[in-house]
Amino acid sequence: MSKLNSIKVVVIGGGAAGFFGAISCANTHPHAEVILLEAGQQLLAKVRISGGGRCNVTHACFEPSQFVQNYPRGGKALRGAFSRFQAKDTVEWFTQKGVTLKTEEDGRMFPITDNSETIVNCLIDAAKQAGVQIKTQARVTDIKVKQDDKSRFKITLKSGEILTADRLLLATGSNPSGYHWAEQLGHKIIPPVPSLFTFNINDERLKDLAGVSVNHTKIKLPKAKLEQTGPLLVTHWGLSGPAVLKLSAWGARFLQDCRYQTSLIINWLPQSNPEVLREELLAVKSQLPQRVISASCPVMIPRRLWKQLTLAVGIDEQKRWGEVSNKVINQLIPELTQGEYKINGKGVFKEEFVTCGGVSLKEVNFKTMESRCCPNLYFAGEILDIDGVTGGFNFQSAWTTGWLAGQAMGKP
Ligand SMILES: Cc1cc2nc3c(=O)[nH]c(=O)nc-3n(C[C@H](O)[C@H](O)[C@H](O)COP(=O)(O)OP(=O)(O)OC[C@H]3O[C@@H](n4cnc5c(N)ncnc54)[C@H](O)[C@@H]3O)c2cc1C
Repeated sequence: MSKLNSIKVVVIGGGAAGFFGAISCANTHPHAEVILLEAGQQLLAKVRISGGGRCNVTHACFEPSQFVQNYPRGGKALRGAFSRFQAKDTVEWFTQKGVTLKTEEDGRMFPITDNSETIVNCLIDAAKQAGVQIKTQARVTDIKVKQDDKSRFKITLKSGEILTADRLLLATGSNPSGYHWAEQLGHKIIPPVPSLFTFNINDERLKDLAGVSVNHTKIKLPKAKLEQTGPLLVTHWGLSGPAVLKLSAWGARFLQDCRYQTSLIINWLPQSNPEVLREELLAVKSQLPQRVISASCPVMIPRRLWKQLTLAVGIDEQKRWGEVSNKVINQLIPELTQGEYKINGKGVFKEEFVTCGGVSLKEVNFKTMESRCCPNLYFAGEILDIDGVTGGFNFQSAWTTGWLAGQAMGKP
């Protein structure tokens, strides 16, 4: 049903950003005709699989200046955007639509149903109620700015159907087609590379330790001068856990440049001063000389890991504290606090991954999400050169940029 003399808004991409943009536009500007085009059969496919099927909607941090610190790329541009629509607004938005979110200990927020379908259904219902026309299996194959009227777009679908639009929102995520059109329409594309991944490490010290985790660690990429703290998890292929995911996000471009081959330094005991640690180990040696070293772990790491590290410095499995020299004990200190490991590839973190790179933020007005090079063209979501660490930050960027675009696009 078309609205006479109304503004025609077309949203390309039926993901988190496209839906939020379309709903926000249709709700704020009832005179606008809003059409959402999705290439796939399924809407909101990534929301469905997100957060291990639970959808980590946002993060319980309601201070924008703190929130933006979780974006290796895009934090500065999002600072102002979050002053208009932030995590608190997301929580309120979903609450008003009847979806209650809960906060987990680490700050991640999920629907209380622990089921991403709750979010998918909420967004689809909200879009329908707002009058958004949703078309699935509507892959866009071409976009042209009409020569006779610079403000109108001609959009060709794979089916051959042609649509026109006064305003266009590109919310195609990390799909290459979106980058291609953005570039064609005059925007710079920062080369896309993966972010949020695990490290493949083939090292004797980690052998047979899959499943072992250490709560407080500090890990470094010395060549990139980057470090992160947090829990570390040993996997069958190497390392994962919050510390690794954060480091992979901040080091995404460096790691791609070195083809995921570089050294990683692990401090298993970042709270310990090496000198104090040395004294503690020597005290164990003098007080418990009969104890088998590999079986009596005196520090706050799992026993199996301790055993591997003692083997790594050449302490035989049956050796007792009284049987090794102080020199050998000294060698344990760097092994515990600055062990070097070789990253030899990247693995997949199944709960979340994103692409860093995309439309250069310099070319977008973050008050409206409108392009600075192509009037009436808007961007939202992952197509932009924005990415966050794991924890709900990527969806929050999609909600915020989608919401801002929606508010602006329907204006007469
Ligand atoms: C496995 C996984 C789990 C995740 N979990 C979380 C999480 O729990 N929390 C979090 O914050 N982030 C999570 N993320 C990241 C989050 O999903 C993305 O940041 C977010 O989906 C980006 O939204 P978007 O709308 O910009 O892009 P997308 O969700 O990718 O949507 C883009 C849409 O555009 C459509 N499209 C592309 N090209 C065309 C075309 N030519 N014509 C028509 N349509 C087109 C695509 O089919 C797609 O549906 C996860 C990512 C993955 C891969």
